[in-house]
Amino acid sequence: MSVRENLEAIKKQIEVACTKNNRNSDEVNIIAVTKYVSIKTAEEALESGVEHLGESRDFGLLEKYEALGEKPVWHFIGTLQSRKVKDIIGKVDYIHSLDRLSLAKEIQKRAEGKVRCFVQVNISEESSKHGLSKEDALTFIKQLERFSSIEVVGLMTMAPHTDDKESIRTVFRELKELQEEVKRLHLPYAPCNELSMGMSNDFEIAVEEGATFVRIGTALVGKEL
Ligand SMILES: *Cc1c(COP(=O)(O)O)cnc(C)c1O
Repeated sequence: MSVRENLEAIKKQIEVACTKNNRNSDEVNIIAVTKYVSIKTAEEALESGVEHLGESRDFGLLEKYEALGEKPVWHFIGTLQSRKVKDIIGKVDYIHSLDRLSLAKEIQKRAEGKVRCFVQVNISEESSKHGLSKEDALTFIKQLERFSSIEVVGLMTMAPHTDDKESIRTVFRELKELQEEVKRLHLPYAPCNELSMGMSNDFEIAVEEGATFVRIGTALVGKEL
């Protein structure tokens, strides 16, 4: 299937998930994750109507940014080493993996304007995954007040690798609950209106549970590299 056909199918699935939960599908942004595909396929995604591209490695981001420039909205979705911040800042529109003060400090040091960040939470507490525990996330977000360049636009999580749909759903639901807690704090630098959750295998559940950004690689652009 072409990227365009995949996109149409995914949009329909998102529509269905939204209808089930009385959501407007306009609230759901599709990020095409291009880490496994060529520049050419990333271009095909843009031509098919995708507006957001996501990369999880600094070199992948830089390579594609060089070719595609500011056409897409760029998302950095992977683990971010502090020493790489200076290379990607100013190029990416959103960072999805803010999970420690040392990284916040580096973003603050390098940023020229506001940087839109998602705080990454490891709801499932799988040790292989990055992100803060649910318990630590609120404290962390409160500590971000002193970093004037950081705007906490939302929370991000990755569901566990499992076929158990209910445990995936629980993870997404808990992220949504945590988002509500952050919103209740009314922190001016942390509106936290967005939820970045859902990948190829679980984006429908994520949308049912309130995702506003889904990060879809394989099911949308395939896997070439
Ligand atoms: C690779 C990746 C995705 C997309 O994964 P697919 O299963 O191919 O859709 C989403 N989010 C993050 C953080 C990733 O690293």
